[in-house]
This record gives sequence, C-alpha cells and structure tokens, in this order.
Amino acid sequence: MITRDDFPPVIDPFGRHISYLRVSVTDRCDMRCVYCMAEEMTFLPRAEVLTFEELERLCAAFIRSGVRRLRITGGEPLVRRGVDGFMTALGGWLGRAAGQPRLDELTLTTNGSRLAAHAAALQAAGVRRINVSLDSLDAARFAAITRVGHLSRTLDGIAAARQAGIAVRINTVAMRGVNEDEFDDLIAWCGQIGADLCLIETMPMGDTGEDRTDRYLPLSLVRARLAQRWSFEEIPYRTGGPARYVHIAETGRRLGFITPMTHNFCESCNRVRLSCTGMLYMCLGQDDAADLRAPLRAGADEAGLLEAIRAAIARKPKGHDFIIGRRGEARGVARHMSATGG
Ligand code: SAM
Ligand code: SF4
Repeated sequence: MITRDDFPPVIDPFGRHISYLRVSVTDRCDMRCVYCMAEEMTFLPRAEVLTFEELERLCAAFIRSGVRRLRITGGEPLVRRGVDGFMTALGGWLGRAAGQPRLDELTLTTNGSRLAAHAAALQAAGVRRINVSLDSLDAARFAAITRVGHLSRTLDGIAAARQAGIAVRINTVAMRGVNEDEFDDLIAWCGQIGADLCLIETMPMGDTGEDRTDRYLPLSLVRARLAQRWSFEEIPYRTGGPARYVHIAETGRRLGFITPMTHNFCESCNRVRLSCTGMLYMCLGQDDAADLRAPLRAGADEAGLLEAIRAAIARKPKGHDFIIGRRGEARGVARHMSATGG
C-alpha cells in the first residue's frame, strides 16, 4: 500500500507546489463561443477519450501526489453522460482526515445550459462553488457570442445552483466592441443575485474562425474605467486560481480579474491541466504535454502513475508567453481551450 509519505507533495523545478488540477472530461460542447471554438468543430473519436473509470484512477493518483483542489471542466462537462456519478466518486475524497490523501475542494466550470438538471446532484457530491460562464445578459448578444446558446437556460441553471446551495461565480470574457458596454450591468446584476463576477482577458488559443486581435481588451483599462463608477478595495481573497480580486462597496460582492495578457501570473502558478485524452499540460500557454493515457492503458499500477506524474511536473515551464502585439499580431497556442480545459 502506498502512503502519502512515500510520495511527498510534488514541487516543480521553480519551487511551486502543484496542488490544483483541472480536468477536462470532454472536448464536446453544446455551444460554440466565438473565442473558444470554430463554428464547425471536429470532436475526438470516443475511443481516444478516457473513460470515467480511467479519469478516476488518474485523479486518485494526483490526489496522492498532493493535489487538494480539483476543478472539472471541458468542453462542457455537463454534456457528458455519467458525469454525476463521476462527481460523486470524486466527492468521496472530500472531508478526509488530515494527513490522509484528500481533497479540500471539488469545483466545476460550466456554461450553465444543463446546470438546472445537475445542480442537486453536484451539491450532493460535495460541490459548494461553481463557475458559470456568461458573457452577456442580452439574449440576442448571448446567442451571437455562443453562436447556438440560449441565455434563459444558463440563467435557469444559475438559479438552480443557487437554490441548491452552491455559490456561483460568473466568468465573463471581456471583448472589445462586443460586451464592454455591459460590465456595469453585470456588476449590478451579480450584486442582486449574490454572485461574484470575474472578468477574463481573451487568450489566443486555437483557430476559432474569428480574428480575435480586434477583440482583445486589456483589463487594466477596464478596471480603470469601472473604478470611476464603483468603489474598489483590494482584497487578498484567493480561490487557488489566477484571479485577483477587489471588493465592491456598492454591491458587497467581489470582482475578479484574470489577466494572462497584461499581467502574467505564472510565478505563483500551482496548476496543471489534464485533457480528456489523458494528456497532462503543465502550462496553459505552452504546447508541452505528458501522455498519461499510455501508461494507464498499458496497465501501470498506482506507483507507476505517480512516477509518470512526478516526471511530468518536473518539466513544468516557468511560464507562458501569450502575446497580442501592438500591430495586432497574436502569439498563442494552436490547441483550443476546450481541449485543455479552461
Ligand atoms: N464550457 C465550460 C464553460 O464555458 O464554462 C467550461 C470550459 S470553457 C473552455 C472554460 C472557460 O474558458 C470559460 O469561462 C471560457 O469563457 C474560457 N475561455 C475559452 N476560450 C477562451 C479564450 N480564448 N480566452 C479566454 N478565456 C477563454
Ligand atoms: Fe463551450 Fe465553454 Fe468553449 Fe463556450 S467556452 S464553446 S461553452 S467549452
């Protein structure tokens, strides 16, 4: 029997303790957001995607390697059949005694379209906090950004989650000329429903069939504009992710900023990402990945998986170098966010 002491927490070459894993359970989605996917996407053949049993084994190995926070994402995680059972299985790692391999938190990122049907099961699995992506409160604009999504379904999902006792953070990708006139309304609405809001800079990831350089909006500018209307106070609140928060006096809620472009947060990065095919990406903004499906399907035992994880994390780079230049040229990565798990 392997104990945690045999495998002390994994620390990368830059001294960062890897305690946060994001797991993409599918590359499929029922939306086609303009910044994330092309309109005609080709999805992976099912045989390439890890089964939930395989994902559970890998998650267990990560938890034994010191991961304490797990975020389930996609694609859209709630479109995969059987996801409630998977969440319940992972929830079994919550609340274990100190000194044991265990999870402190199990969370999910979703577009909310199917959340109404899953909220109770997620709550029962131990999920207490979720991120719901919502870029506009205007139905026509929401439909244009997501290409095929319906605002009402996402709003129903948010209401159901809150009713089930799950705290919601709204994630909004800030896009120049698309939703930049709505941030005040989003802040006020989040205040009314009792949710935090987090603004995200557009990252150049994957071909989406759209020119995103015109859409890029630095959050430093947004923040300065918003500060003219709202009273912000810097707070040290952290959720384990890259967001940096302020408290808004008028609403009593938090506003987060995720700024991979204007303020690189790599020095404190404690995360790695597992794709639905078992590729472990040590950095969202770099192409290097370690194939964990190969040892898994070759019959590796837990010690073998732990060793593969340790070897992969030893390759974690210092940081990413996404750039959208002054003349509009973009340097990013070819894979889509939905493949890696946002
Ligand atoms: N489908 C789920 C959702 O939309 O919340 C989970 C997966 S999605 C890839 C996770 C997050 O990544 C979403 O909040 C989405 O807005 C964000 N995202 C996707 N592509 C992005 C990009 N190119 N730049 C910045 N954020 C992006
Ligand atoms: Fe789907 Fe989420 Fe990507 Fe939108 S951001 S296309 S909802 S995976």
